[in-house]
Amino acid sequence: MQISKSKALFEKAQNYIPGGVNSPVRAFRAVGGNPIFIEKADGAHIYDADGNSYLELINSWGPMILGHNHPMIKEAVIKAMENGTSFGAPTAREVEIAELITKMVPSVEKVRMVNSGTEATMSAIRVARGFTGRDKFIKMEGHYHGHGDSFLIAAGSGAITMGNPDSPGVTKGTAKDTLLAPYNDLEAIEQLISANKGEIAALILEPVPGNMGLVTPKPGYLEGLRKICDREGIVLIFDEVMTGFRLAKGGAQELFEVTPDMTTLGKIIGGGMPVGAYGGKKEIMEFVSPAGPVYQAGTLSGNPIAMAAGLTMLQYLDTHDEVYAQLNTIGDKLVSGIQASLNKLDLNYTINHLGSMYSLFFTDKEVFDFASAKHADTGLFGKYFQAMLHRGIYLAPSQFESLFLSTALTDDYISQILNANETSLKEIL
Ligand code: PLP
Repeated sequence: MQISKSKALFEKAQNYIPGGVNSPVRAFRAVGGNPIFIEKADGAHIYDADGNSYLELINSWGPMILGHNHPMIKEAVIKAMENGTSFGAPTAREVEIAELITKMVPSVEKVRMVNSGTEATMSAIRVARGFTGRDKFIKMEGHYHGHGDSFLIAAGSGAITMGNPDSPGVTKGTAKDTLLAPYNDLEAIEQLISANKGEIAALILEPVPGNMGLVTPKPGYLEGLRKICDREGIVLIFDEVMTGFRLAKGGAQELFEVTPDMTTLGKIIGGGMPVGAYGGKKEIMEFVSPAGPVYQAGTLSGNPIAMAAGLTMLQYLDTHDEVYAQLNTIGDKLVSGIQASLNKLDLNYTINHLGSMYSLFFTDKEVFDFASAKHADTGLFGKYFQAMLHRGIYLAPSQFESLFLSTALTDDYISQILNANETSLKEIL
């Protein structure tokens, strides 16, 4: 595969952009090789600057649940553009999307639009602190909630991929208010709470974490967290930036029937444009300025173009329940095919899978939290990544990420991925 243009672009980029990229994992540091510079994307494929095409399983890290360059979203964006790109004043579309989100996401009675998942989680924690009058919050090891200071402590995603789960630049003063717990362990939460009685404002987690690779909740775990938070007056926040509108129309909270007090959203909610949101119970959201005293604002929040893309996406998902059945079928076919190859090759690697998200961990141990995710052989993952890339399959360039499937994956494409998977696994043994 010839990638001379991507190589030249990366070399030039490193002169002007730290590490040559605008988000760390894109640099392929964890998997080696030169990052691929993308020129365009359509359906299940992306196309690089050298004209190579790849079947891909990232979908812009989640948003493109219907595949790339969907005509319906494109049309909505072009139409909105004709009326100007930003007003800095309220629009009807913002009201419409807020109403729809409150209808689709069980916990959300009121919602505020922001520009990224990071803004959503930072704001949600501030509101929970304002609401409870407490400073500390609990975060799970290996979960990623964007790059807000107080979350870059034992953080997953790019932070662990780059070897900086605790980022320099986060002050000790900030870090002391972030209490860490292992995921899937209710006893650890009880201990943290009894050591910090009456001081904890919020417990935030990815209900189904995708940022240490995909990990699923043990039966009763989310229900247990709900009970503990109710008992202690702690605001339970589900960070559904990845899982919202993906695992079900109403996200993981709908699937597991556990309703948090607040929810953070991103990715799919913008239909591929930069959008995030946080919402929850009325009495909590009424603390947000100008209804209440907790300040949060944004020049481009509720941007008309971004709202047009997001609204079109959500309206479609809201009226097409079959999307989720289709995504589950695609996920089942792909994962059962990968498992069949593993069995055939006598390999015991672990696959975690839920709906249209999955991770293949290069370990034979069960992966249920951050510590067990770290058993995976990242060197072997890097070889697998490269072997797949050379066969035209573009995966997330890190062991500690979930893959995201879209409805654009036809049976033919799934077969191509499965063939590449089996030959790649044989090659790296
Ligand atoms: N929360 C979760 C669960 C995420 O996966 C991410 C990003 O991947 C974020 C928050 C941050 O979102 P953004 O990258 O839009 O700031």
